Amino acid sequence: MATEPVEAGLEQGALDESLGVLRGVGPARARALERLGLETLRDLVLYLPRRLESSGRASTIEQALAGASDEVLVFSGLITRRRFNRFGRRSTLRLTVQQGDHELEVVYFNQPWQRERLEKGETYTFAGRVVASEKGPVVIAPQSAAGEDSLPTDQWFAIYGVTDGIGQELLRSLVRLSLDRAADELVESLSAELLGSLDLPDLQDSVAELHSPSSPEAFRRARRRVLLETLLPLQARVLARSERCVGGALPVQLESASSRRLRQLLPFELTEGQEQILRELEVDLSSSTPMRRLLQGDVGAGKTVLGLCACAAVAAAGAQSAFMAPTELLAEQHYFGLRDWLAAADLRAALLTGSLRAAERRRVLSRLEAGEIDVLFGTHALFSRDVRYANLALAIIDEQHRFGVAQRARLVDKGRDVHLLLMTATPIPRTLALTIYGDLEVSILREKPPGRGEVRTRWLRPKDGERLPEFLGERLEAGEQVYWVCPLIGTEEESGAERAFERLKASELVNHGIELVHGRLPAEERARRLDAFRRGEVRLLVATTVIEVGVDVPLATVMVIEEAERLGLAQLHQLRGRVGRSELASWCLLFGKPVSRERFELLENCSDGFELAEQDLARRGMGELAGRRQSGELGGLLATIDVDVDLLTTARDLLTGNPELLNSYLGAVGNRSVTP
Ligand code: ADP
Ligand code: MG
Repeated sequence: MATEPVEAGLEQGALDESLGVLRGVGPARARALERLGLETLRDLVLYLPRRLESSGRASTIEQALAGASDEVLVFSGLITRRRFNRFGRRSTLRLTVQQGDHELEVVYFNQPWQRERLEKGETYTFAGRVVASEKGPVVIAPQSAAGEDSLPTDQWFAIYGVTDGIGQELLRSLVRLSLDRAADELVESLSAELLGSLDLPDLQDSVAELHSPSSPEAFRRARRRVLLETLLPLQARVLARSERCVGGALPVQLESASSRRLRQLLPFELTEGQEQILRELEVDLSSSTPMRRLLQGDVGAGKTVLGLCACAAVAAAGAQSAFMAPTELLAEQHYFGLRDWLAAADLRAALLTGSLRAAERRRVLSRLEAGEIDVLFGTHALFSRDVRYANLALAIIDEQHRFGVAQRARLVDKGRDVHLLLMTATPIPRTLALTIYGDLEVSILREKPPGRGEVRTRWLRPKDGERLPEFLGERLEAGEQVYWVCPLIGTEEESGAERAFERLKASELVNHGIELVHGRLPAEERARRLDAFRRGEVRLLVATTVIEVGVDVPLATVMVIEEAERLGLAQLHQLRGRVGRSELASWCLLFGKPVSRERFELLENCSDGFELAEQDLARRGMGELAGRRQSGELGGLLATIDVDVDLLTTARDLLTGNPELLNSYLGAVGNRSVTP
């Protein structure tokens, strides 16, 4: 990788190496890691685990018999009895495990291979939770290892956020490799005094503790220090930006001929709410102070067209716009869905994503640099190092809450004097938005376009599943379309999109045409399948959450979501936004475990994204929001960037009172950033 010209003394070190330098990381894995916001060794070294898990507490069988608890217990014993039953695909393996005078039952359901691993007359160590059953305490599906005391006890493990193609084990080993290679380059920039007053350990120790936790308390402190380290450069830029950018933006007239023509070509009238937002954009854009506006509007409210009006105005002023989406799928959908309309209004659009072939990419880049493209759609590839705009004046970030810190930061670097329009369906508390972006105006699009049918949401119990095929058959018969969503792709698991696809293919529903899309498909193939669904040639689409944002198929009236407990409230609401896009009545049917009952009931009773977010916030409280692991409950924003509100404020205060520190974090950024 070429080294950028940087300030003296800032060499490009191991921390800034791209993940491709690690053994086992090829282009496909690098792309998957990028989805997690991981691009350099620094990102991995500072990667925050989602949570801690304990290996379990050492126990005797006698202690384990004392009763059910939530804790994982680790115990050893001799297998004295073994019974195995099979009914079709189901099976039960029951073991009696003895230690001294005490016996405990261990059960495995549907894991017939355990028979080969666990022999009668041998001793094993087990780790699992004791649950109460009619026949007394049992341990269901524990981990096991041959021999006595052969599983770890009283240890803590960091559990990371993972993605398709990057599992927990792989991620853990990549973190280890990065630590070996780069961790000693980390420099503590906070004085011992400051650290003391914040009650934080130093950065090197924190990173070590973070990835090999010694206790929940030590982990929590280490995590705060590391989180602070990712927030400081971001805040430094937010602070620095507000000074630098004034006066540098291109003033643009929204009420230009080109923007009017674009609107005349629309098949619908803008709503009053949309008109209002355009008036706000008009004021922002006409100034040489760059626009910083966040447009919040529920799923399906019609934000896209507003962004495009701004693009048209920018094009009329002879400059370029970048329209960034969080997924390739959404970028493609925007581009392919809007291209004809834009062309009719004489706007030259192009698409730039990571999976473009090299030749095609070069062509797009050279047209862009020559000023032959007015609107460039794409993923965060739009802000890669090698992308040069002839004259970029406007950046639109769609579904902004889906972007991670690194991507957002890069944008702030590149777009110092560019008008910026952020769009989101996930409301962010204003204080939080301000802290993340600095100065920021907020527009809210409340009403939805007319002619939208109601979406009824129901949490289904397993037995309702029997009636479901008939219901789906009726809807499909009526010419409507169905999404079937599974959170996991699931080649091996019992559940998952591939399994569901096989299952549905074997049913009568197959006659209506069925297709499968997920993130591991090559982009072209995925676009082809999605297009078949859009055109109605295929009417049942099995999908992972890749369809969460953007996909717009008016005749789709039913969405079934399996294992909905795996998804957060905001994400479920986003998904549900794929149906109810015409005047037809729609359904969102959830299958999910009772642990998430509260979330499902909120969804059943509330269809407004803002109200949902408010209720969720009220229910959990701001304190919760600040401290706890962010599991995506509140919204994508918190899920993606692991925000800790008081820590953001801390970062800001530290920098405001300390110009030297501010510069050091800006400098560290200079080492990585793309400065035009
Ligand atoms: P979101 O706000 O979720 O991004 P979109 O911009 O994708 O929503 O709009 C959803 C759908 O509503 C699109 O098919 C769009 O063409 C349509 N739409 C937008 N504005 C209007 C309107 N004023 N009247 C009717 N349909 C509209
Ligand atoms: Mg949208």
